[in-house]
Amino acid sequence: MKRISLLLFSFLTLSLTAQNWPAELLIKPEKTSYRETSTYQEVMDFVNAAIDGKSQAHLMSMGKSLEGKDIPVIVLAKSGIKSPEEAKASGLPVIYIQGNIHSGEVEGKESVMLVMRDILHGDKGYLLENQIILFAPIYNTDSNDKMKAGNRPSQEGSPIETGLRANSQGWDLNRDGIKMETLETNALIQNVIVPWDPTLFVDLHTTNGTWHGYSLTWAPSYHYAGEKAPYDYTWDKMLPDVTDKVLDNYSVHLGPYGYYYPRREGWPIASIFTYNHHPRYLVNQFGLRNRMAILSEAFAHERFYQRINSTYAFVTEILEHTHLNGKQMMAINKQAEADAINLVNEKGGKVSKGVRYRMTSLKKPIEKYRTYNHIVSKNEEGRDVFVRKPEIIELKNVVNNSAFEATVEAVLPKGYVIPKEFGAIAEHLKKHGVKVETLTKNMRFEGEVFSATALNRSRRPFEKHNMATIEGSFANATRKYGKGDYWVDLAQPLVNLIFYMLEPQSDDGLVNWNFFDEYFDENDIANNTVEYPIFKYFDIK
Ligand SMILES: [Zn+2]
Repeated sequence: MKRISLLLFSFLTLSLTAQNWPAELLIKPEKTSYRETSTYQEVMDFVNAAIDGKSQAHLMSMGKSLEGKDIPVIVLAKSGIKSPEEAKASGLPVIYIQGNIHSGEVEGKESVMLVMRDILHGDKGYLLENQIILFAPIYNTDSNDKMKAGNRPSQEGSPIETGLRANSQGWDLNRDGIKMETLETNALIQNVIVPWDPTLFVDLHTTNGTWHGYSLTWAPSYHYAGEKAPYDYTWDKMLPDVTDKVLDNYSVHLGPYGYYYPRREGWPIASIFTYNHHPRYLVNQFGLRNRMAILSEAFAHERFYQRINSTYAFVTEILEHTHLNGKQMMAINKQAEADAINLVNEKGGKVSKGVRYRMTSLKKPIEKYRTYNHIVSKNEEGRDVFVRKPEIIELKNVVNNSAFEATVEAVLPKGYVIPKEFGAIAEHLKKHGVKVETLTKNMRFEGEVFSATALNRSRRPFEKHNMATIEGSFANATRKYGKGDYWVDLAQPLVNLIFYMLEPQSDDGLVNWNFFDEYFDENDIANNTVEYPIFKYFDIK
């Protein structure tokens, strides 16, 4: 009898805790045995069903795509917080998580909906006690629906069809962090990032090929010209903690993002290499804003359901971490911001910072690096070919090329002056959230001018740009500017971003993205030395 009642009891608890979702709360992959991914309309239908009657949820539009679709952002907060002003007044950290920036990489979109379902209808409601969560499941709306088989070869037909990588204007949304040419980046920066000021930004992707042995790889906002403390926290505390929890709770292996090259190093490989530091990538741009960010890359070669599971586990454990540590993360970011401003106030004109960087190795290698094993064979020409084995092995002490060191430095000024003819540059800075003032009287500035002796443009276009670099040198100068000219005081929160955008020798600044080509061509840079028109000042007289 005792045994029967115990059995009955366990059956009852099981049926009470197991979730039986109604059809409208199932995502498309669940309805199709993970053969299909959600269309834009299916995402919207799910979101509307999930938030129906829920005071903790508020649907807003980030902005519109080229095809006129609203880019949805779901604000989840305990006390019905709906606006950035209310969020700020609450003192709670805002965590922003987006899926589908590349709309062939679709598990972020699906996973975010699953986490939303857990929070609003399941057992994860407590995740709203200490934080405000902003979910943007389908950032690249238009291209999601241009589904075709074979759009993502490395995903091996799972799901059968996916959308396209570029947005409907033909740009890669994850190369647009500086130039801001797409509707989506403008909507994201101006309507989410600037007003809501997220403590953490999470960008959900899928990898493109390397056969490492992790279900998902991650990267922080890499440290180069920004502050180190937010990077240190992300790299040393948050990512290891989340990685352990995901292994404990989901039996899913996570590890550092990177590629390796057996053709270069032989087998076993000795090192992995990450991607570049450039702030054109949104995650890296976030570091220049003194905020934390995470790149998430589900392993392309696993099946769709596995990639949803690992991305879901990662997002859930990130939110568990921010639930417990979000306030501390906010404080670290604030301190980083204050440190950046202090440096300008105390050392502006006297200290140099990097403007061009190269990748190098971290001091600490990866003790145990998981990867699919390979054997070496010979092809008909006698050259080594690397044949992948089905088993995962651990390589010892693999060098991790995930650090960046400066190759060119420039003096950090107190600020910049932009002549009134360059109003477009001032407007562009404002789009990023930079404070730009207009001079109302004549003022004398002491600082440096950059004399450009050459402007080189890449032959092959990248993102429809022939990327430019200028060469030349700085010299001391004093200049008078007056009414209508623009003044950028660097003692402001976005100091590191402004510096990287405006420094003429930067490797991902406005010069690189052709903002000054017309000016340099008009002044016949091919035959003359031409002064870079933005003046950097160390002192105002
Ligand atoms: Zn991607």
